[in-house]
Amino acid sequence: MTNPIQFDLCIGRKKPYSKNHDACPFCTPEKLTNILEKRGEMIWLMNKYPVFSDTWPTVLIETDRHKSELSEYSPGQLHEVVSFGLEKWHQMEKDRRFKSVIYFRNFGPRSGGSIRHPHSQIIGMYHYDYTDNIRDENFWGPVFHEDRSCIATLSDYPICGMAEFNVMLKPDGTTDTFADTMQTIVKFVLHDFPIPCDSYNLFFYRLKNIYVKIFPRYIASPLYLGYKITQVVNAESRHVILKKLKSQSYFDE
Ligand SMILES: [Zn+2]
Repeated sequence: MTNPIQFDLCIGRKKPYSKNHDACPFCTPEKLTNILEKRGEMIWLMNKYPVFSDTWPTVLIETDRHKSELSEYSPGQLHEVVSFGLEKWHQMEKDRRFKSVIYFRNFGPRSGGSIRHPHSQIIGMYHYDYTDNIRDENFWGPVFHEDRSCIATLSDYPICGMAEFNVMLKPDGTTDTFADTMQTIVKFVLHDFPIPCDSYNLFFYRLKNIYVKIFPRYIASPLYLGYKITQVVNAESRHVILKKLKSQSYFDE
């Protein structure tokens, strides 16, 4: 059993929250501190509010447009953002101080994110290996899209969401196509998921291959919170989801 990581509520209390109409710190880049690297309008910097103990938390501000969103990025912008993120994630993974590095992104009121401005987080963990909690079967499930670079599945054995979508980057695949596939699924989640959805998370994993999970987000189920009972969509719902994803509106398979 892995030990929990500690969350500092005193720091958490000071964080700005978009839902409270707090001023967005990412809209005034001239006031940002501890910047690690700038590329175009993207800024990679240290997180000013390091709520998780025993970590080296960084943030990647993806754009200077507060109301923009990954599902709306042009192909060029999407490729730049994902390639910058994967590059910095990999750079941190090579740093021997970290036992593992997590890379994820929140969007929407139910995603657990505090700031609306489009950003991702890449966090180095000194003594925690996230892969201890993840199993290969969490990525298994029916394939609804495959091309030269990636394979997309709907989880039969999700980690905790009832519908988790996965994209695996093939060893010789291009990250641009990987990003395109991920964005197409995000569009499906926000616009055509069988029950309306305004929030999602992206989680990246490095196992034998690189994966990204796209999680539609709702208020978490009490069955999972209290009993760790994982739910998965039934056969009929799965059919509806896969049929739409394979249709002309999305992957046209
Ligand atoms: Zn902003």
